[in-house]
Amino acid sequence: MDDFKRDGSHLASFPPVEKWDDWVELDPEAWPRRVARHYELVPTICFNCESACGLLAYVDKETGKIAKFEGNPKHPASRGRLCAKGPATINQIHDPDRILYPMKRVGPRGSGKWERVSWNHVLETFGARMQKAIQEGRGEEIMYHVGRPGHDLIMDRTLQAWGIDGHNSHTNVCSSSARLGYLLWHFADRPSPDHANARFILLLSSHLESGHYFNPHAQRIIEGKMSGAKLAVMDPRLSNTASMADYWLPTYPGTEVAALLAMANVILDENLFDAAFVRNWTNWQDLEVDGFSAQGQTFQATIEALRRHYARFTPQFAEKETGVKAEIIVKIARETADAGSRFASHLWRGSASGNLGGWQTARALTLLHVLTGSVGTEGGHNLNAWNKFVPRPFSVPPPQKHWNELLYPLEWPLCTHEMSFLLPHFLKEGRGRVEAYFTRVFNPVWTYPDGLSWIEMLKDENKIGLHAALTPVWSETAWFADYVLPMGFSAERHDLMSQETHSGKWIGFRQPVLRVLQEKHGQKFDYTYQANPGEVWEEDEFWINLSWAADPDGSLGIRKWFESPYRPGQKITVDEYYGWIFENSVPGLPEAAAKEDLKPLQYMRKYGAFEVATDVYKLNETTLSAAELSGSSVRPDGVVTKENKPVGVMVEGKAVAGYGTPSRKLEIFSQTMRDWKWPEFALPEYYRSHIHRAAQAASLGQPTEDFNSQYMPRVDWPEHASGEVFTLLPIFRLPNLIHTRSGNAKLLYEISHKNSLWLNPVDAKKMGNVRTGDLMKVHTEIGFFVLQAWVTEGLAPGVVACSHHLGRWRLNEENQVERLSSAWVDLKEVGRGQWKMRQVAGVAPYESQDPDTRRVWWSDAGVHQNLTFPVHPDPISGMHCWHQMVRVEAAGPDDRYGDIFVDTNRSHAVYQKWKALSRPAPGPGNLRRPLWFPRVVRPVEQAFYMK
Ligand code: SF4
Repeated sequence: MDDFKRDGSHLASFPPVEKWDDWVELDPEAWPRRVARHYELVPTICFNCESACGLLAYVDKETGKIAKFEGNPKHPASRGRLCAKGPATINQIHDPDRILYPMKRVGPRGSGKWERVSWNHVLETFGARMQKAIQEGRGEEIMYHVGRPGHDLIMDRTLQAWGIDGHNSHTNVCSSSARLGYLLWHFADRPSPDHANARFILLLSSHLESGHYFNPHAQRIIEGKMSGAKLAVMDPRLSNTASMADYWLPTYPGTEVAALLAMANVILDENLFDAAFVRNWTNWQDLEVDGFSAQGQTFQATIEALRRHYARFTPQFAEKETGVKAEIIVKIARETADAGSRFASHLWRGSASGNLGGWQTARALTLLHVLTGSVGTEGGHNLNAWNKFVPRPFSVPPPQKHWNELLYPLEWPLCTHEMSFLLPHFLKEGRGRVEAYFTRVFNPVWTYPDGLSWIEMLKDENKIGLHAALTPVWSETAWFADYVLPMGFSAERHDLMSQETHSGKWIGFRQPVLRVLQEKHGQKFDYTYQANPGEVWEEDEFWINLSWAADPDGSLGIRKWFESPYRPGQKITVDEYYGWIFENSVPGLPEAAAKEDLKPLQYMRKYGAFEVATDVYKLNETTLSAAELSGSSVRPDGVVTKENKPVGVMVEGKAVAGYGTPSRKLEIFSQTMRDWKWPEFALPEYYRSHIHRAAQAASLGQPTEDFNSQYMPRVDWPEHASGEVFTLLPIFRLPNLIHTRSGNAKLLYEISHKNSLWLNPVDAKKMGNVRTGDLMKVHTEIGFFVLQAWVTEGLAPGVVACSHHLGRWRLNEENQVERLSSAWVDLKEVGRGQWKMRQVAGVAPYESQDPDTRRVWWSDAGVHQNLTFPVHPDPISGMHCWHQMVRVEAAGPDDRYGDIFVDTNRSHAVYQKWKALSRPAPGPGNLRRPLWFPRVVRPVEQAFYMK
């Protein structure tokens, strides 16, 4: 530990907190000389993915600059450990191409000409637009559209203070499919697996290397394994995660539910299920299936009906659908049942987000938890709402009165989140316009499917009145904005964050490191941009000031929500906003702070995180308090109601909280699905995805069985499309990149900068001995892209894959998307709605303030596949079904690496085909959406009813 005492430096896994004010290390650049450097350490939260791991910023005492980022050992979820993207934050804050000042477009949209403006100008311009729109009753023309939220609480509160229904998110291209499957079971729309204490872990994801909360989860999965847990991974691709597993189950894409229901069948058939749990905690009495009704029937008779219903999911049927051997499925089913209440699983994207009907994956996976009694248990499947902690602010504005159909249209009443990826198509259909559009850390032109329809929309001032891109980095979307507003990275802003990373509860505090440090040493700032590089700001202060600008005299009733709880009538500061929360709504924090003679805000500035609770299990069994029971009554079905709303349920003679569903039980039978026109899916079911082999045969006009035409449209290939038909997996993440926000991290792009087309050797041979590096042309329903092949046994025949993240592009040589990671392209509209992109030059060394940019040795930036994907809104969950049916052939003599062609007329036609499969509202009682379904920013109850 004290090897370097002579110069005061230390060797330690993590710097102990008592040394954070003066931490000494030897300067690696001075080696072999021993030069000690002194650092002051400030905790913050990583902003490079949703996990919210704790960072420690090392501020060099001599230069006053941040020298590096490492893990915060005091953070309860990440516990000092980071993935590669956490430390790469240092590249992002020192990126020579970063946006330092607010910029306003000059010339037409998309022409790439900008002038610097002041923050005051921005606030006045947008404040005036908003004020006018709200005064004229057009509040719904103000839209906030978020990519990476990276914060809890403040934005929802801000939008409700404005009184508008204007929250749009990226979730329907991300996770809304799995969320629906979970929601139908237990209201909570995400799982919180207790991997560390599990005996058997089933991952339908590459969760040791990427995915939601993967660093906090990965370390706990490994802990579980080290304590003897077995790990099974269901993934068509041999990911790094699959390579670490005891069992790899390479299911054919979209057939995972068949395997899961076959496992359920084995567990039921062999009587391996937890009967007491199923009897007590499911709504089995509501079951109606195959002519059987559980009303008046015994539990045993109901189980027999379930057995009969799932009997068709034999392991042999599952083998035929999935390609995984029947005996392996049986073995996994028995090991899952053996683990009992210590069975953990995780599902994110992949199967759920790739496939039509992918929401059933979460439905079927949770059925296994229900049968094994592993819901809410140590080592089992917990609920996100139990482990995520969101505190209360100093005042809460009332819910908005309106319902914005650009966000929640009638066609998808069961979508868990806003139908955001369809916005260009909604505006094309004349469903409305957007007067003031705030995109925040959001790059739909690149990350969404059908990006050229987004470009067409963003360029049209009749559709988008004024667009501000709030972003820490240049992006393909920012290029088409009216204003580009620089917002801070993780060391340059305040945010509260909490995630369901394990069986505890915690809250993390992101903070602007240089401001915090300088204020600690006596300097004062009015705003964070005064301490950050250039005039990089943070959203918290921006929204507070914009709200004042929109309602300068308070007459709209907005301003009052942004007045200080300590200084009536004065504008609230961020210290006051967070200080109030830490003093009043984080249990245990004031006491912990008092022990160190600190105020709660000082405590959070010192440690960056606080553990609110540990070992959170079985909250469904929480006994209702006397106050909760006062004035309540018990319905015949055992549900405890108060003011006509379910608040609990009777279980074994006790009134307990239960789950947030209408029955307060785990809903194996969903009356909601029946009521909302999908009675065939009241139970967990399997139906074929849009990329199933039957759908492929149908696309070629070949005779085929079980093409579910009532659920999926037939693919109509463009005339130019030819070649073998494959399923393309386009959404797997690389461990060291994150969507488009890591483009300015030289450390990360030096490692990964190419996205080839994965192709099995069997297919390569069939296609004329394709070899790694050969140019391939991949046709989708609306266009094509050209890239190199990578022949590998890492995925099954009949499937091709291409990683997410890569293929960044920019429209000029110099900048406006990071030169480290983007190709310079020529983009032309060659006919109405027909777009061609060709790379002019790849990545190359360049001059900048960072000498490393002269040392760039790679030239590839990858190929942007998403542009060529049509939208595929799942008729039920509304999720964009990412997997693509494609035709692949060798590139022709006129094709060049990176070429892209897209016809947005075709993309609109594909949208119409998918939309036609939905079953629109109204539901019962003229509702737009089930009343018990959540919404991110929930309006008043009356707004749920159609007029
Ligand atoms: S997993 Fe990596 S990128 Fe995500 S928050 Fe943690 S360190 Fe940052």
